[in-house]
Amino acid sequence: MLVGVPKEIKNQESRVGLTPASVKELTLRGHQVLVQKNAGAAIGLTDAMYASSGATIIDTAAEIFARAEMIVKVKEPQPQECAMLRENQILYTYLHLAPDPEQTKALVKSGAVCVAYETITGPNGGLPLLAPMSEVAGRMSIQAGAAHLEKSKGGMGLLLGGVPGVAPGNVAIIGAGVVGTNALQIAVGMGAKVTILDKSVDRLRQLDLVFGNRVATLYSNAQTIEEAVLEADLVIGGVLVPGAAAPKLVTKDMISRMKQGAVVVDVAIDQGGCFETSHATTHEQPTYVVDGVVHYCVANMPGAVARTSTFALNNATIAHAVALADKGWKAAMQNPHLRNGLNVCRGHVTYEAVARDLGYPY
Ligand code: NAD
Repeated sequence: MLVGVPKEIKNQESRVGLTPASVKELTLRGHQVLVQKNAGAAIGLTDAMYASSGATIIDTAAEIFARAEMIVKVKEPQPQECAMLRENQILYTYLHLAPDPEQTKALVKSGAVCVAYETITGPNGGLPLLAPMSEVAGRMSIQAGAAHLEKSKGGMGLLLGGVPGVAPGNVAIIGAGVVGTNALQIAVGMGAKVTILDKSVDRLRQLDLVFGNRVATLYSNAQTIEEAVLEADLVIGGVLVPGAAAPKLVTKDMISRMKQGAVVVDVAIDQGGCFETSHATTHEQPTYVVDGVVHYCVANMPGAVARTSTFALNNATIAHAVALADKGWKAAMQNPHLRNGLNVCRGHVTYEAVARDLGYPY
């Protein structure tokens, strides 16, 4: 199959759909890969690396869209990319269609076969093509939180791990899923005093087995959240209720009673956030202060570490990319997990939740 990798054009996006190693997986199997000039340059993946993996370097996105049978990307196609998609062409990328009627309309109109990373399921449940970005965001949340506890960034001037003779900082993590567990690992590694809360006692049981008395696990309810938040120097919000907006677990009143110069990192901001005082921020202006508490609410945290994120994403996407290229989309969709990723197919919305939310027949 002829596979195309255009350079991402969304604002501030430096990730790339295929790494040179992923290109090699495809070319070794006899597929041809077209990579746009400088597609990975911003993260140190040079055209020479792609060429030595067997890719052909192409000057323009227009040529790639015109020739390739499958387009592999990271972010949802922008309007000018949607306009270049062709009937029966496979598009394999993150789409996030439910809140995006314009993009959905453009994809339906294109007649392309659009497979969304975020709805592909795994044999053990979960969303394996979403998990790597939650791993990145969870680990980053502690790094970002620790940096913003520094005085120059608006924080109280606290070193999370303390030093001999000085107590470490208190970290409260709300939600013990992928984000929460990865935040926990880094916070423990930095020597912080960590409390993690979740509604799932099974999840807390698993963490207790792994981390023992290095972490305190608490069943999440209004009272335990309030106690943990008021004691914390850094709070991480990593809850998810699938298919719903994040519950506002930390109220404005709790924020107003937190320590001055404490930091909250609302990773769940892409689902509306779990702090009542949260609103989305960007990497250029990541924080704002409410009642003396620094809020970090960047909606696309993995974008800041685009190199790591690209490799992590490719580890999760390459197997299905190979299947699509080897078998073609019709045969590849025999895999029910990949089929769950099919959101739009040749003029029809084929993912129930998107069809329902946006009023398409299903
Ligand atoms: P996950 O499903 O692995 O974990 C969510 C956890 O929240 C679950 O363990 C669940 O039991 C728990 N939970 C639900 N309600 C709760 C409550 N009331 N109190 C405590 N815990 C509760 O999800 P995840 O992959 O960890 O993702 C978490 C959030 O982070 C999602 O909204 C995701 O979209 C977001 N995210 C944001 C970024 C970013 O850049 N900001 C990046 C990746 C993921």
